[in-house]
Amino acid sequence: MVSRLAVKGGDAIRTRPWPAWPQPAPGVPGAVAEVLGSGRWSISGPYRGADSYERRFARAFAAYHDVPHCVPAASGTASLMLALEACGVGAGDEVIVPGLSWVASGSTVLGVNAVPVFCDVDPATLCLDPDAVEALITERTRAIVVVHLYSAVADMDALRRIAERHGLPLVEDCAQAHGAAYRGVKVGALATAGTFSMQHSKVLTSGEGGAVITRDADFARRVEHLRADGRCLTTTPPAPGAMELVETGELMGSNRCLSEFQAAILTEQLTTLDEQNERRRANALLLDRHLGELGLRPQATSEGTTSRTYYTYAVRLPDGELEHTAIGEITGALSAELGFSVLPSYAPIPANKLYAPHTRRRYTVSLAHEERIDPKRFSLPVCEDTARRTVTLHHAALLGDADDMGDIAAAFAKVLRHGAELAH
Ligand SMILES: *Cc1c(COP(=O)(O)O)cnc(C)c1O
Repeated sequence: MVSRLAVKGGDAIRTRPWPAWPQPAPGVPGAVAEVLGSGRWSISGPYRGADSYERRFARAFAAYHDVPHCVPAASGTASLMLALEACGVGAGDEVIVPGLSWVASGSTVLGVNAVPVFCDVDPATLCLDPDAVEALITERTRAIVVVHLYSAVADMDALRRIAERHGLPLVEDCAQAHGAAYRGVKVGALATAGTFSMQHSKVLTSGEGGAVITRDADFARRVEHLRADGRCLTTTPPAPGAMELVETGELMGSNRCLSEFQAAILTEQLTTLDEQNERRRANALLLDRHLGELGLRPQATSEGTTSRTYYTYAVRLPDGELEHTAIGEITGALSAELGFSVLPSYAPIPANKLYAPHTRRRYTVSLAHEERIDPKRFSLPVCEDTARRTVTLHHAALLGDADDMGDIAAAFAKVLRHGAELAH
């Protein structure tokens, strides 16, 4: 019998191209050209008589979140490490992080000499399960990092209550949630600090980049020093040609600065974020309806969510269907139908092959430390189950129109119907 699935040589549901990502905002070429000719490509270059793009972006991004402070940084990874250290996290401290996330949720904690404690997630929102967080708190816990994963906002009311009760800082990793809001407040502005990634795949991007936002002036000052080799920007502009960074020696840092090119791109990209988020939201609602009719279960968000950002569209396969087919076979078949990469949900971080502390000699501080960071000591049933049954689409797929959502639904319907042709 001739197979009908595209992955088995049948006709694909779709051959038209998908929306491109990234999409440069109209002002980007001009802004980048301005930096090129400005004589200043970094905040550590001499002041040229005008605000750096880094300052302009910081101001715009802080205003966007209605917070007083934003410190741009080189990446989401750098931003998380800066925020953790600004919280006072250090050698041997425990930091509670979700087990379902990009590998950086674990590696950044290791990177500040601390111990990541992986926590299970809520099966509906795929974000930190507050009860599981509370059960993991010990006298060595020094911070909690929550990730607003895929398209969800975590249960911030419950998490803030727990953090407050235990006197712990709470950091929001918003790498996947630029512009999302909870009870009318943008994510990142709900806790001690918010961190962002502007890496290529994210909804706001300059190829690489990051930022930390906070309401706390002292916290922002620590982040500033940590990201610029112990220097911070002057409050009043210096003479043209002089350095704008002052060597205070207050707190030792490393270079985690964003370049002027990246800051210029971000300043322009930020002007298109809301409109693109809106388009993705509208398409996601269509997709929820189509896929719901097929028995699939789209990722939920917590009750207080007032605005959702789709970095990834995540949906769970119908219970009882294709239970014995490997998730990679299913996503491979969907990708072949659509000409767009459909991927399984993240593996739980302790089971992710990219999370391998034993491959870095810098973490062999002591036998006791090696035991504490051993990924094998964590059990995360909800994360594991999600990795087996949930598939994800990058947000570029949601920048199209209603017909595109129809194609995605048709691909799911076809793969569910012909699932028996796939390997187990
Ligand atoms: C992308 C991402 C990061 C890391 O950001 P980079 O800019 O790639 O360093 C951290 N956390 C989450 C949840 C991410 O999605």
